[in-house]
Amino acid sequence: MIYLDHAATSFPKLPTVKEAMDRALARCANPGRGGHKPAMTAAETVFSCRETAAEFCRCSPEQVVFTANCTHGLNLAIHTLVRPGGRVLISGFEHNAVTRPLHGLKAEPVVAGSVLFDPANALEQFEAALKRGVDAAVFAHVSNVFGYILPVDEMAALCRKYRVPFAVDAAQSAGVLPVDFSGWGADFIAMPGHKGLLGPTGTGLLLCARTPKPLLSGGTGSQSLEQEMPDFLPDGAEAGTLNVPGIAGLEAGIRHVKQSGLKTIAAREQALIKNCAAGLKALGFQVFSGPNQTGVLSFVPPMDCQQAADLLASRGIAVRAGLHCAPLAHRTAGTLETGTVRISLGHSTKNHQIAYFLQNARFLR
Ligand code: PMP
Repeated sequence: MIYLDHAATSFPKLPTVKEAMDRALARCANPGRGGHKPAMTAAETVFSCRETAAEFCRCSPEQVVFTANCTHGLNLAIHTLVRPGGRVLISGFEHNAVTRPLHGLKAEPVVAGSVLFDPANALEQFEAALKRGVDAAVFAHVSNVFGYILPVDEMAALCRKYRVPFAVDAAQSAGVLPVDFSGWGADFIAMPGHKGLLGPTGTGLLLCARTPKPLLSGGTGSQSLEQEMPDFLPDGAEAGTLNVPGIAGLEAGIRHVKQSGLKTIAAREQALIKNCAAGLKALGFQVFSGPNQTGVLSFVPPMDCQQAADLLASRGIAVRAGLHCAPLAHRTAGTLETGTVRISLGHSTKNHQIAYFLQNARFLR
């Protein structure tokens, strides 16, 4: 099978990830819940991943909170930064993992950055909205539908200039582009462990400048006499037993990304996606591509998008069609009615797979 759905999760998982998980299952008990050897091995395993992630994202180990996925981290961040009914600046390309928690808080979203692959437009609209006044900002680094890389360095600088607290959704950038916690000065950065960082599903990271408001309260292995959750990181946001095998696998994934190098990963994916865009355009399809794009690309063939994905699946090619949990991004780009077919590349994508995909794309007419 040719897997072109890495934006959903990386696949197949690396042998080193599986080995690390097997090792953890064989050796680790509950971290921070005892002084015996299997508990200590678990604590060391978890701390080792915290250190590796912290070095990779330029923060300190205690600022790394383990989450179940990126959605979990975004919910922690949003429930901390946004008061019910507050005004929140977002981009026009947000995922439901941002817009649904905001909706749940009855927040007023202020949407800025509504032109695909146009960072100048994003910055202009962003600054205008900040000038008018917002309580917080939450924005994606990269659109999961279009691969559009938003100008996050500058957006972060604007938030700092206007003293607006902000969180970044690095779901589609972590493991492909630099995620710079200290450079951006973000309050929170959320990312999945299972996409570009190559870890297993059920893992995620939330980088925290301060202790988030906990979504769960319970045992932390610290300050057990107190009935308030600890107010320090990472314990204040990590109630309950951690996913130790998942965290061990995640560390192996991050190590692989580090060894490969972000520049190499991004350049490879970008070259392949350019090739895809050119091939799909030559077939006469509507293709969404731009210079500031990762290995994620949407297109609209003449036939129904879901039927197109099914046809590709019957030929051994896994893609995703529809709205990709991001109706706002589709509304912004004008594809809400049709949806799109999305291909997304990753560590296992090879040149010959792209060639095979393009050969088969001509049947979508
Ligand atoms: N934000 C974006 C931009 C995403 O692409 C995704 C996953 N599709 C998420 C958030 C949620 O990630 P997770 O599935 O790990 O919760």
